[in-house]
Amino acid sequence: MTTGDLAETMWSATAAPAPTTDSLDTDITVSVAIVGAGYTGLSTALHLARRGIEAVVLEAHDIGSGGSGRNGGHLTPTFHFRPEFSLTNLKKRLGDETAARLIDLQTGAADLIFGLVDKYGIDCELERVGCIHAAHTPSMMPALEEKHADYQSLGRPMQLLDRDQTATLTGSDKFHGAWVYENAGHLQPLSYARGLARAALKEGARIFTGSPVNRLERRGTKWRLTTPHGTVTADFVVLATGAYSSALWPRLKRTYAHFRLGCAATAPLSTEIRRAVLPQNNHLVDTRRDTFALKFDAAGRLVTAFNVSGLRGMSRRNMAALVARRYSWVWPQLASAKWDFFWTGAIDLRADLFPRLFELGPGLVTAIGFSGRGIPTGTAMGTVLADYLSGTQKEALAAPLEQPSYVPPLMRLVARMMIPRFRRQDAQAMRDDGLEPPRF
Ligand SMILES: Cc1cc2nc3c(=O)[nH]c(=O)nc-3n(C[C@H](O)[C@H](O)[C@H](O)COP(=O)(O)OP(=O)(O)OC[C@H]3O[C@@H](n4cnc5c(N)ncnc54)[C@H](O)[C@@H]3O)c2cc1C
Repeated sequence: MTTGDLAETMWSATAAPAPTTDSLDTDITVSVAIVGAGYTGLSTALHLARRGIEAVVLEAHDIGSGGSGRNGGHLTPTFHFRPEFSLTNLKKRLGDETAARLIDLQTGAADLIFGLVDKYGIDCELERVGCIHAAHTPSMMPALEEKHADYQSLGRPMQLLDRDQTATLTGSDKFHGAWVYENAGHLQPLSYARGLARAALKEGARIFTGSPVNRLERRGTKWRLTTPHGTVTADFVVLATGAYSSALWPRLKRTYAHFRLGCAATAPLSTEIRRAVLPQNNHLVDTRRDTFALKFDAAGRLVTAFNVSGLRGMSRRNMAALVARRYSWVWPQLASAKWDFFWTGAIDLRADLFPRLFELGPGLVTAIGFSGRGIPTGTAMGTVLADYLSGTQKEALAAPLEQPSYVPPLMRLVARMMIPRFRRQDAQAMRDDGLEPPRF
């Protein structure tokens, strides 16, 4: 399966309508041209337009066609959960002051999104609930305790749960404790992208869909972007193309590894099951390195995101067998759940798993490396890009603006090959704790 048509996603079937947009069929001149109508591009356009700066978004397909319309819907405004990506390590890497700004940006992103949803009345099934990070085996608890201690310095609400409390919150006895980060949520990702687009349009930005930028060239002090039926001349350009970057700026693709993920969704589940599985409607990830992430949508469909490297991603049948085995093990009530939708998408992965703002040329910038956290990170990076393009000095930006650095060419391959190894490690961790690992 490729990262195919947006129409095959469950989000497409249930999303709030998209605003009406046309393709570009003329030549225009603006201050800022933004390539890509995902969270990053739309948030940048919205925050520029709010400051009265003319911004035009050019999208090859439809609003949210990339990762923004096909993701798992988790709004988890932390950095990656693995212990090596702790706030403490981020400070060591970036220095206290720069790290503090980036940490504020990322952990403040839930409030940013809650505020945008309220201000613009975005209809996106937003639930303001804690994200459960559940231990799949007892020996994972020290890492979650460390995470809790690390993030406690932020003064935000969070809790550590023991096994019984976790069973109550998840409805499953398969977890051995959990860290719950409260200032989080989940939403309908495509509706959120469409809502951001509506908000940007309302503030005066322009969005052209069905308008692939095929050429980007420097002409004197300006940039010229060419689409099949029109051109844009701009002082500044934002490449907000995420993992869906084309050959437009070839070196951009070298700044991240393109990594496929899959999603599956059930038909709406019965009220009885809804009361038993994640009864407080939290979203959940577990400590497996071969992670699974899940949440309910507003109609009671269970939606899950997972790695689809190798055989498991090759067909709907393989994906169906995997999710059925996984979830009926965690919640036996789900044994007869009907899995209706399967789709895939891509994320832009960096080895160090934190987001970057790169200056690719004079007035040409990109935000990349969201590594599966694009709902909060893309929205928040849009505010930083808007700050930069409206005159904030580089040194004062919430995320450092750097010269591009490239991921090793083999990273994508290695990332894929790691999945079988991760699965073995997950199973071994259970055996080491005297537990029988499930067969998935
Ligand atoms: C299966 C899956 C599950 C995920 N789960 C989560 C989750 O639960 N929570 C979370 O926070 N993140 C999640 N992510 C990651 C998140 O979806 C992305 O990080 C985020 O959507 C990236 O947003 P973006 O705006 O940077 O890029 P995108 O949304 O990918 O948008 C890029 C856009 O650029 C357009 N484009 C590319 N080239 C051109 C061109 N030449 N001309 C015009 N347009 C162009 C594309 O068509 C696309 O619409 C998940 C991703 C996937 C795939």
